[in-house]
Amino acid sequence: TDPAVIRNFCIIAHIDHGKSTLADRMLQITGVVEQRQMRAQYLDRMDIERERGITIKSQAVRLPWASTEGDGSDTTHILNMIDTPGHVDFTYEVSRSLAACEGCILLVDAAQGIEAQTLANLYLAMENDLTIIPVLNKIDLPAAQPEKFAAELAGLIGCDPSDVLRVSAKTGEGVAELLDKVVREVPAPVGVKDAPARAMIFDSVYDSYRGVVTYVKVVDGQLNKRERIRMMSTGAQHELLEIGTNSPEMTPADGLSVGEVGYLITGVKDVRQSKVGDTITQYTKGATEALGGYKDPKPMVFSGLYPLDGSDYPLLRDALDKLQLNDAALVYEPETSAALGFGFRVGFLGLLHLEVIRERLEREFGLDLIATAPNVIYRVTMEDGTEHEVTNPSEFPTGKIDSVHEPVVRATILAPSEFIGAIMELCQNRRGALLGMDYLSEDRVEIRYTLPLAEVVFDFFDQLKSKTRGYASLDYEPTGEQTADLVKVDILLHGDKVDAFSAICHKDKAYAYGVRLVAKLRELIPRQAFEVPVQAAIGARVIARETIRAIRKDVLAKCYGGDISRKRKLLEKQKEGKKRMKMVGSVEVPQEAFIAVLSSD
Ligand code: GDP
Ligand code: MG
Repeated sequence: TDPAVIRNFCIIAHIDHGKSTLADRMLQITGVVEQRQMRAQYLDRMDIERERGITIKSQAVRLPWASTEGDGSDTTHILNMIDTPGHVDFTYEVSRSLAACEGCILLVDAAQGIEAQTLANLYLAMENDLTIIPVLNKIDLPAAQPEKFAAELAGLIGCDPSDVLRVSAKTGEGVAELLDKVVREVPAPVGVKDAPARAMIFDSVYDSYRGVVTYVKVVDGQLNKRERIRMMSTGAQHELLEIGTNSPEMTPADGLSVGEVGYLITGVKDVRQSKVGDTITQYTKGATEALGGYKDPKPMVFSGLYPLDGSDYPLLRDALDKLQLNDAALVYEPETSAALGFGFRVGFLGLLHLEVIRERLEREFGLDLIATAPNVIYRVTMEDGTEHEVTNPSEFPTGKIDSVHEPVVRATILAPSEFIGAIMELCQNRRGALLGMDYLSEDRVEIRYTLPLAEVVFDFFDQLKSKTRGYASLDYEPTGEQTADLVKVDILLHGDKVDAFSAICHKDKAYAYGVRLVAKLRELIPRQAFEVPVQAAIGARVIARETIRAIRKDVLAKCYGGDISRKRKLLEKQKEGKKRMKMVGSVEVPQEAFIAVLSSD
């Protein structure tokens, strides 16, 4: 294909602003999906299938488009619509998808206006030098305020409000004009035709029948079927068993040339052998310089995952192995906890990633799990100069600590201006530092804060939502680290440390954490045959204490003399409780206590 007729673009939007619906209309208007096969969220349907590992989602759809404008030329253009994962946790992948495009459609709900992910995606698009086409969607809604939000959007990207296209992905109004605008404004890809091939991997998914399917954009040269290729980051070589395009189903071809977007299959079984951001070239006479931007995904948030039923441990290991085939960012290693038994310490890109993985483990693999409170990575420097990277709070070093470093993020919050006070209070409580504030329109603001990641991963979003009646949106990106006054708080039951409850806290919050946890445990742990002290301690210093009083021997005698059914109930209840007890030292702790304490409230 002549690169001059190719247009590579993506749609970026805040969740629910209509990305999938607009993609549907495009599939329909360009005729790649026949009317009778059309159903809502055509590409999303595949999303679910991909989750289950049956088929793969089409990551880049090839749409032929004959312009409807009467400019005399009847050239059919090839539009490649490239999907983006769309969430902040996957920013790196999003930015790789964007790097495969020359332009993007910035889609904004005409009844909602700009939201936090609109901004985050826009900044990524700008970093990748994309041509940006601003579009308001859902103009059919009675609540739409196209004038107001066109002005907002124009103000944001610095164009005239009349340049903001207005469409309804639902009715199809304006979509043909939008495709024409893509053809007119998005530049054709440029690359060197006669150079050794260089193709950028922007997505890589595992399919249980076909192995890994890799999505690429050919930047220079050409990749051909049957050729031997080389992954430039590792030097690994593979044979190209199949290469082709998605329109929208996989359609094999002889090769892909400059500017083209498509898929390839080499028979590898693990996405880590075909990494997002890597460059593919020919094995012989290949390119010597990789395309910029290869980066290993780095886990930011860690949590211990333990099967509720210890005998499920091998199942959990298999499940993690399987998920890793499709998720290069998932890392884990075995871990033992005195309280919870055998499990894994698992690293995630962020909270959403954690939730997705946990849900999949429970839903797709039928596992019941206990997850310990998520924590970030701390870097601890000792006075003797040695350094420790701590991914599990119970492994926080003891001894003479010089300094502790924690990761920080730059958070962007968008909300109606009436909530400024509440938002600032929340951020201040979370050790935030205000970076700046801008009005998007007279009644909506963008507030930027530097916040410790540890403060964001723990129910920050829920708090933000509840303090703004659901109106605020949040986005954040890692920006480095800072030193902080952090300590480890241990919880002791009858003198024994319960590793699963150890937490790293800011010094000013350690006391409150200790008091809260100790009180909670006193409530949740049933009385034992002996008195059990519950303590919170920093090192050897106890900062909070409660006592679970010993059980009275005559507990049954107290049941109104002869009420036998009541006695039996009490006994049954005790038996029930016994089933799910774990021994922590000499204390019996019900499984439920762990779950209750580890889930945030
Ligand atoms: P995505 O999260 O950006 O992919 O958003 P979806 O395409 O899933 O759309 C979110 C919701 O908005 C769905 O209920 C759609 O039916 C609805 N929607 C999308 N576009 C329009 C539109 O143009 N008009 C109206 N009225 N609803 C729309
Ligand atoms: Mg969608």
